[in-house]
Amino acid sequence: MKKYAVLGMDVEDWFHLDYFNKEECDTSQSTMDGLTLYLDLLKQYEIKTTFFVVGELVSKYKDELNLILEHGHEIALHSYSHIRPLNLSISEFREDTQKGMTVLKDVLNVDPQGYRAPCFSLDRERLDILKNEFNLIYDSSKIKFDSHDLYGRIELNDFDSLAEDIYKKDLFLEFEASTVEIFGKSLPVSGGGYLRIFPWFLTKTLLKKYMKTNGNYFFYIHPFEFSKNYNITVPENTDFKTKLRFNTGRRSVEKKMHKLIKLLKQNDYEFVTFRDLYSGKIN
Ligand SMILES: [Zn+2]
Repeated sequence: MKKYAVLGMDVEDWFHLDYFNKEECDTSQSTMDGLTLYLDLLKQYEIKTTFFVVGELVSKYKDELNLILEHGHEIALHSYSHIRPLNLSISEFREDTQKGMTVLKDVLNVDPQGYRAPCFSLDRERLDILKNEFNLIYDSSKIKFDSHDLYGRIELNDFDSLAEDIYKKDLFLEFEASTVEIFGKSLPVSGGGYLRIFPWFLTKTLLKKYMKTNGNYFFYIHPFEFSKNYNITVPENTDFKTKLRFNTGRRSVEKKMHKLIKLLKQNDYEFVTFRDLYSGKIN
């Protein structure tokens, strides 16, 4: 059985993070250097992946995004405004998605085929809009995680389970972010945040457990986690816990990323994009 890993990036700036109020952020500060640094790392290992891009950044970062395409990666949509879809009405969600699709087409000549909702905030009604009205062929907004109250729930009862963490209905696929069961709880082993915050030995232990039973590994990281701009001045009213959550492990994440890639390689995972997986590279 072949094993596949998607080491995707959600392309957004630090002020898009759900725990900051964008209106209060000094948006002249940026962590988007993390995008190019991540691109360099992927190049070093000849890894291709999927970048889910926030539409409102597309014009400003046109050159960097074109570089992503030149390197053979896939660009998909991470909404236009990075407002959680479940906080938008259905018509606002349609409008936001349309704006994102249009800007990717107009500026980069990309017709995105996949979507990831900000903060995994999606439900079945909105998923059906992506599938039936925007003709997208996949989504990756599902995560099994018990204790994160911001994440949405997508009802997939009539989807077939195609492989580990991949669900199918008609010609549409849903890719679920990777989690591992510990003491009956689902713990994500897939996010840049966990890579930053958990010590490597813990991540490695969780991953080894995960890899025993799962042939697909879907990881996501953000530019701010890879950025070398460690001096972002966050809004004054930001509490200590949020500051900690934002800053912890940012200086060590690059090192851990090398370890993660090596561990996946040692365990025979092949690095692909979601589009590759869609077009047949599925167990
Ligand atoms: Zn996001």
